[in-house]
Amino acid sequence: MSEERSLNFIEEIIDNDLKEGKYDSIVTRFPPEPNGYLHLGHASSICLNFGLTQKFKGYTNLRFDDTNPSTEETEYVDNIKEDIKWLGFEWKNEFYASDYFDKLYAFATTLIKNNLAYVDDSTSDQIANGKGTPTQPGVNSAFRDRTVEENLALFADMKAGKYPDGAKVLRAKIDMASSNMLMRDPIIYRIKHAHHHRTGDNWCIYPMYDFAHGQSDSIENITHSICTLEFVPHRELYDWLIKQLNIYPSHQYEFARRNISYTVMSKRKLLQLVNEGIVDGWNDPRMPTISGLRRRGYTPESIRDFCDRIGIAKRENLVDIGLLEFCLREHLNKVAVRRMVVLDPLKVTITNFQEGTEILQSEDNPEAEVHTYHDIPFSKEIYIEREDFMEDAPKKFFRLAPGKMVRLKAAYIIQCDEVVKDEQGNITELKCTYFPDSRSGSDTSGIVVKGTLHWVSVAHAKEVEIRMYDRLFTEEHLDGAEGDFKDYINPHSLDIIAKAFAEPALADATITDRFQFLRKGYFCLDSNSTADKLIFNRTVTLKDTWAKEMKK
Ligand code: ATP
Ligand code: MG
Repeated sequence: MSEERSLNFIEEIIDNDLKEGKYDSIVTRFPPEPNGYLHLGHASSICLNFGLTQKFKGYTNLRFDDTNPSTEETEYVDNIKEDIKWLGFEWKNEFYASDYFDKLYAFATTLIKNNLAYVDDSTSDQIANGKGTPTQPGVNSAFRDRTVEENLALFADMKAGKYPDGAKVLRAKIDMASSNMLMRDPIIYRIKHAHHHRTGDNWCIYPMYDFAHGQSDSIENITHSICTLEFVPHRELYDWLIKQLNIYPSHQYEFARRNISYTVMSKRKLLQLVNEGIVDGWNDPRMPTISGLRRRGYTPESIRDFCDRIGIAKRENLVDIGLLEFCLREHLNKVAVRRMVVLDPLKVTITNFQEGTEILQSEDNPEAEVHTYHDIPFSKEIYIEREDFMEDAPKKFFRLAPGKMVRLKAAYIIQCDEVVKDEQGNITELKCTYFPDSRSGSDTSGIVVKGTLHWVSVAHAKEVEIRMYDRLFTEEHLDGAEGDFKDYINPHSLDIIAKAFAEPALADATITDRFQFLRKGYFCLDSNSTADKLIFNRTVTLKDTWAKEMKK
């Protein structure tokens, strides 16, 4: 985690509220709409909301904002819960806005009784036209002066299912000349004959966002209701409704929505990628979703660290995805177990090595506090990476070349004596000799070499599939880019290496293990992996190579 930092503006507000004795403790909520999977923007909101109640006294509720019946699904609810838990947070209560439908209906009735809401039969076009413009006041609806009794009866009939979708709405009676367009008699209930994932067919009228959110906050005694900047103009309505209903005074605070370079963070757009088969589902390892990042091999620690470092802002800006990758490398370097995998093999025969196997010891993680080792078999035939050999090597090539020496990691120094080629002139094998007194850890050979290569024993290697991921988009600032965001899909975002060769210890890999494949990057087992076919995802490269690649 990052070093102590000063309080952000919301923390300052809370700190003051507590000092002034406005509250004894605070209550926040994370209110996802269950119409998609959580992404990095949500992670930022989760870390903020849960982080606040960890830092100050209090708790955080998980509230599913499920007031829109047509898009919400139980699958999303389950995945959202899994993602929050995986990120490392615990909610106090699991609530659903739909649990409040009765209360919200009663609140609406209260408004009607106080002559603060009316049933409007106008079409949606008529309502929109009547709203006026930011510079011109709206006009009162022809139905604005209905009596309380008439409104109560009509609203009850709306609830009873007497009218088709769109026939009537309930509007708050505020001010058609307000400078805030949202205060010009906003719609608070609409008719929608649709099945709801929790309430089934009990309801055919549903509250609008503005009439559900603040009221739900109030029902839960939320002290600080934090949302993104686009809700600033809604705050006046939020406060008005709470005041008119005389219910618990929750307060709304806004921070800037998080945008991250080279990716999109709108559920609507992410859903398009899923539906159009551009990615392999919501948890495709290239997706900016929590489940995608998890499958890719991200750790919760690295995501929390990232959210902590970017903090919160009052203005929208673009956060460099390189920072997320930096946080990831920082954490993986500490926790990832080192293993050797050859992606593109070149056979090396060690001519002076006896037949049979020698079991060597390879260190699991030089960064760990306790140094542990695992067995690695060495034998007469090994694979090295094809790119680690060059026939006509330049002076500064410290890998293998004819007549040159290198160290094999955790094993011996070898020297290349002969290059074997097929009829087409392709290199098929190298013949080398090894120095028996050069074993890592007990080297008395006195030979100094500059390069160390990773390798695997041919007889012991396990064939695995490797999936190399790159950014899903080629454009840094997708929101500002011309045309459709899908015009910027990176055609090379997935490169599958069907047959790579792993050291045998990787046969026991589990889904929560984190690996560094020496010199190749950080990897994890993919969730679609089976015992017969191990699949590894490249989580991130060892270094940031992206900037360089872009210049090619
Ligand atoms: P999307 O546009 O992706 O559908 P949303 O805001 O509609 O996002 P919700 O499920 O309504 O998604 O969001 C739950 C919470 O997460 C809200 O409080 C919202 O403000 C917050 N949130 C969503 N996206 C971001 C983001 N990019 N940055 C910060 N907070 C976000
Ligand atoms: Mg939303």
